[in-house]
Amino acid sequence: MIETTEKDRKNLKTRTKLVYAGRHPSEQHGFVNTPIYRGSTVLFPTFHDLVTRNAEFTYGTQGSPTTKALTDAWTELSGAAGTILAPTGLAAITLALLTAVKAGDHILVTDSIYRPSRIFCDTILARMGVETTYFDPWISHKVEHLIRPNTSVIFLETPGSQSFELPDVPAIAALARAKGVCVILDNTWATPLFFPPHERGADMAIEAGTKYLSGHSDLLLGLVSANAEWLGRLSATADAFAMCAGPEDVFLALRGLRTLELRLREAQRQALDIARWLEGRREVAAVLHPALPSCPGHALWKRDFSGSSGLFSVLLAPCSQRAVAAMLDGLELFGMGFSWGGFESLVIPFDCRSYRTATPWNPPGPALRFNIGLEDVEDLKADLDRGFERLRKAG
Ligand SMILES: *Cc1c(COP(=O)(O)O)cnc(C)c1O
Repeated sequence: MIETTEKDRKNLKTRTKLVYAGRHPSEQHGFVNTPIYRGSTVLFPTFHDLVTRNAEFTYGTQGSPTTKALTDAWTELSGAAGTILAPTGLAAITLALLTAVKAGDHILVTDSIYRPSRIFCDTILARMGVETTYFDPWISHKVEHLIRPNTSVIFLETPGSQSFELPDVPAIAALARAKGVCVILDNTWATPLFFPPHERGADMAIEAGTKYLSGHSDLLLGLVSANAEWLGRLSATADAFAMCAGPEDVFLALRGLRTLELRLREAQRQALDIARWLEGRREVAAVLHPALPSCPGHALWKRDFSGSSGLFSVLLAPCSQRAVAAMLDGLELFGMGFSWGGFESLVIPFDCRSYRTATPWNPPGPALRFNIGLEDVEDLKADLDRGFERLRKAG
């Protein structure tokens, strides 16, 4: 094997890049994978090297061959100038926001943002004197009217990971660029494989590596990729916080990376199968899955995305909480728990009414979010079928 560089791989397909990105067997005695480097201290050979920090690696918080393997690969796959790691997805989000705001700023955030992101804006950023305005994810270029002289960030997530609204990222990014506003995008659902974040206009893009990059519900990790304009400020902020990720988690994420495309494509296939089946159920009023033509935002999804993942929601026809509990409590294959992107199917109830502020959330009945894993879909449908029977019986 001749070791290729990112430049050599430019014309290769994503699947091939996923196999080679970030790997340098010749630097690891020929071993295929970069091993786990554990360490704080890095020794410098001479006084001169120490005082000038003349080394590729200088201290544990600043990276190791293990973390570099992942950040190099992610930068290549995201079409970014560089990537910074954080211990969780939420830490990556707070890092990106703190890179771009200062006291006295105003930021615009889509109303369908991941709820813990919202809590960060409403508490820590508010305390720092940064004001947040939430906006309707569908308003697209009309967000321009909400930009103030002190607006520094537009923070998007596409689609929102509960309600699946899709803001028009290229349209919003174009007007943000014209006004010098930084666009931060939570790209966890699609990953760079299905939505190239920087090509679509994001300055900084977040991936909760906890989800599909892991794929096995066994690690927590966050990644922020940045374009050339923002990488310097992002790196400096990460250094100030000593933001870093543990080497075992990074190693597991690298292992997940090699099969990311396969797992995503399978999640897409299985989730679409179940979503279509759910569309035909009388207990279901609507399926919120952007790849279904019945979903609002389908046209945007078709224009900008090259795939969909295994996470979607349904709005049930009117029924009681007791009926939902009867359905979910008896499920044999679907687990109830937070997070997603793993090999196992999950379901959670959700209700956005208590916290959305820009747009009303008035579903006809209770809402459920599904993560479709790698089980056989016929087994999953049978499990849900029995669940719907319990739901109907409980009223
Ligand atoms: C889970 C999630 C995060 C946060 O990831 P953690 O690693 O759990 O902190 C951020 N954004 C979205 C859309 C998520 O689903």
